[in-house]
This record gives sequence, structure tokens and C-alpha cells, in this order.
Amino acid sequence: MPELPEVETVRLGLHAHVVGRRIMATKQLHPRGLNPKSIGPLELLTGAKVLDTRRRGKFLWLVLDRPYVLAAHLGMSGQFLIDPQDQRHTRALFHLKRGLKNTSLHFNDQRTFGWVSVEEVRDGLPTSVQGIALDPFDKNFNQSQVVEDIRRRNTTIKTAILNQNIVSGIGNIYADESLWEAKVHPEKRASQMTAREIERVLDAAKAVMGNALKVGGTSFDELYINVNGESGYFDISLNAYGQEDEPCPRCGKQIKRIKFANRSSHFCPKCQRL
Ligand SMILES: [Zn+2]
Repeated sequence: MPELPEVETVRLGLHAHVVGRRIMATKQLHPRGLNPKSIGPLELLTGAKVLDTRRRGKFLWLVLDRPYVLAAHLGMSGQFLIDPQDQRHTRALFHLKRGLKNTSLHFNDQRTFGWVSVEEVRDGLPTSVQGIALDPFDKNFNQSQVVEDIRRRNTTIKTAILNQNIVSGIGNIYADESLWEAKVHPEKRASQMTAREIERVLDAAKAVMGNALKVGGTSFDELYINVNGESGYFDISLNAYGQEDEPCPRCGKQIKRIKFANRSSHFCPKCQRL
């Protein structure tokens, strides 16, 4: 499932391919491809010129020469591809033109949890992104404020850092990696942690995602491919996520997996104590 580094990699790829181009035609190919929040059909975009690309957390959007934007969320398996050969999972299609050159931008999504939508903008943010917290890479991210917010929550630290209204961009993979890095048990109560401990977790999240960004985004789902059609996989080693029964790279103890919501948490029972 794409997290912040993957979405940012997609945004960078999109930026290179779509900014300065005009959307000549659109086509919605699957009913779930369009978010119900969309103010209208994709045809509203016909004739619009793409001015810029933006991202917050796991949401991205194209700024147009219009009072609305094209927003997107990749869900579990969403991809943006330019002129792909395999078009079986295309959910929405955008014909783009710059000068005499035509290309087609495909929003592909095998599992159909992702979407695109036409959205109005308020305070610089599309409708779906209203209420989504800043991510740790935003220049306005206020870490001490986020720390205090987390400490006030009657929840576990893992649930808190996955909450996109507290801090955005972190998903299950990078949450497990960040908690391992910070030596914090995923089920620790946020309200029982010191500010310093929570800072360590947020610092780790930024470092872990920063590493992923450097390598160009990672994903552990073969469905995910970045905008060029290149695999978004990269080979940073994972210390905790998906490493059940493997030795902890720090202390050698076997990594444990426990149930977490409908998913799992992976941690080292020696380094990360409750
Ligand atoms: Zn360990």
C-alpha cells in the first residue's frame, strides 16, 4: 500500500509528465474510479491546463488553470502510467497535449480502493484533504504541537501515528519501522509516554520515510508501479515489518507479529518493551 514516499515518488513522476500540458479529453472507465466527493464528471477537466502538482500525506492533486483541481488517492494499488501497454485496469483516462505531442495518462487500479476526483479548493486544499494533518516533510510541520496532540490521545502510539488527522503520510509499514527504530512498543499508551519518547518516534518516522524517498519510494505490493511504469520497489532492508521470526538486526531476538486492527504489527520483544 503506497505510503508517503511512494506517493511523493508518483507526484514527482507526474510533475515531469503533466505540468504545462492541457487535458484534451477524459474518460471514466470504472464507477469506483471517481470519488463520490467529485463536484462533477471528469469532463469538467476538458481544456484545463496543468499548472503544478501538490501532495499532502498520501493525497496528491494537480493544480489547474481552473477554480478546481484533479485530486487523487492511490488506495491500495493505484498507479499513474503514461501510455501503458497493459490497460486492463485503467479506471480513468486523460488525454494530454503539449504542442503537437499527445500522451495519455492512465489511472490504473486493480483493487479499486483508489480514486480521482474533481474538487474545489479552500485555503489551498482540495475538499478531500481538508482536515488531513501536515506530514513530517511539510515546512510548516510543528513537531512539538503534534507531540502534545499525541500525548492527549487515549490510544496506542501506533494508532496515533497512523491517524491522518494527527500526522499524515505514515502507513502500516513505516509505522512498524519507525517504532522499531525508536525502540517503542506499538501498543504503548500514548498518554503514558514522555514528550521525548514521542519525539523519537516522529524523528524516526521522518528518517525512515526520508530514506525511502531517497531510493525513490518503496512498496511491498507488486501492483504498485510509479508513473514511468518502473517498479516502485527499492531495496532498503526492513528491520521489523514482514520480518516475523527473523532475528532483530539490533539484538538478535526473533521479531514478533501481533494482530493490529485488520492488519499486523511487527516488533522486537526485547528492544521494544511495553
Ligand atoms: Zn531487538
